[in-house]
Amino acid sequence: MSTTNVHADAFVFFGASGDLARKQIFPALHAMVAAGELDVPVVGVAHSGWTVDDLRDRAKESCLENGMKDDADLKKLLKLLDYVDGDYKDAGTFDALKKALKGASRPTHYLAIPPSLFGTVIDGLRGTGLHKDARVIVEKPFGRDLASAGKLDELVDRAFPEDAIFRIDHYLGKDEIMNLLYFRFANSIFEPVWNRDHIDHIEITVAEDFGVQGRGAFYESAGALRDVVENHIFQVVALLGMEPPSYQGYEAVQQAKESVFRAMRPLAREDLVRGQFDGYKDEEGVAADSDVETFAAVRLYIDSWRWSGVPWLLRTGKKLAVTAGEVVVFFKRPPQVLFEDAEADKTPNYLRFRLSPISEIALAARVKTPGQEFTGTQQEFVLHTESPLERAPYERLLSDAMKGDKALFTSRGSVEAAWRVVNDVLTDHAAALPYAPGTWGPKAADALAADWGGWRE
Ligand code: NDP
Repeated sequence: MSTTNVHADAFVFFGASGDLARKQIFPALHAMVAAGELDVPVVGVAHSGWTVDDLRDRAKESCLENGMKDDADLKKLLKLLDYVDGDYKDAGTFDALKKALKGASRPTHYLAIPPSLFGTVIDGLRGTGLHKDARVIVEKPFGRDLASAGKLDELVDRAFPEDAIFRIDHYLGKDEIMNLLYFRFANSIFEPVWNRDHIDHIEITVAEDFGVQGRGAFYESAGALRDVVENHIFQVVALLGMEPPSYQGYEAVQQAKESVFRAMRPLAREDLVRGQFDGYKDEEGVAADSDVETFAAVRLYIDSWRWSGVPWLLRTGKKLAVTAGEVVVFFKRPPQVLFEDAEADKTPNYLRFRLSPISEIALAARVKTPGQEFTGTQQEFVLHTESPLERAPYERLLSDAMKGDKALFTSRGSVEAAWRVVNDVLTDHAAALPYAPGTWGPKAADALAADWGGWRE
């Protein structure tokens, strides 16, 4: 799965003073140093009027906040750090960056900035030739809809060829998500039943029991459909729904996934239920009359030979009953049930992948209770259970980008095809329905799943 390439000789991150840098980038850089995977100049760029010492203070603060130690690796990271202060609109910022790079000729540039600034930064890089032989990492969201994603691609294309563009969906760097791919294709037992003949429906839940955590202004421009369904959840659907890749390697996996996105039926108004938790409108940065959804439930179909007629029930939301991620693959019931108790209990067999807070794979099947009677219960057999790995997704993804390994990044075709699926319902939808915090969203979402036994709680 690796497309080993030349290692980058510098790491530049735009957005050095931002929220993402604080929460994810500094801890990832620290972990990369500790793993021996980062030993090149690291330059942060922002316009906060900072000096390099301010950047180092922020880096230290961020690493300690995230449970890392004030150890030799942190000291080494602080030494590698440099800082360029300046507006992205100002060509002088990029001249200063060139100087700070001290002759590095294959930098990796990470655009950890709002997408509205991508064009400005890319033009600045081109203006100083810093795009040549460089790679670029682009943060999600890749646009807000089909048209803006196309424009974003045009912007990035101005300076970088497709093989130098790394689109991050950090979900793909999570171990439990990679395990979906591994579990499917490292085993042979499930493949014969992995289709419309044996699978009744598939349910995917990504629930958070917390709210927008001070990021109300950002959330107002996103909403649950854009922020989670169209990217993270669709990536999970693609991994579970794809055909076996025809050869080993990044392109084969990307092509197989892209075919799933292309076969997804564009959502219609009745396939979506939107909700908004009570109190959302009181959050800072949120409009008093906001209709932005903090909950989305979707019924999706993949019109392919393998999946025709099988509904994929997807839901995500904030301030729900729990924080958890789970996939449940429900199998069809036996055509003829010989035993009365099994006939009465309509629960189908299922395979369950718990994605968070722990990683778990379990299979549920009916077994007989000891005794004279032919009665039994459905029992869950846990095949695998593990705590989340300490190797966080950003560490893995940034390391991979530095190495030129694209296996865990998203292709342009997949991004475009995914937007095509949701594009109509981004604007053509019913109003967001209110729901009480701590619940499973608005009651109307139940109707989407009613024909398949309702959502699993
Ligand atoms: P922030 O708004 O917190 O940070 C933006 C950064 O860009 C700041 O460092 C800011 O510098 C800098 N900046 C803005 N305008 C200019 C300018 N004209 N010239 C120079 N620097 C400028 O954004 P986030 O860190 O939250 O997000 C960054 C990207 O990551 C976005 O695309 C977001 O969607 C994505 N993302 C964020 C996540 C998160 O948890 N935060 C999660 C997943 C993706 P200054 O401080 O000096 O203004």
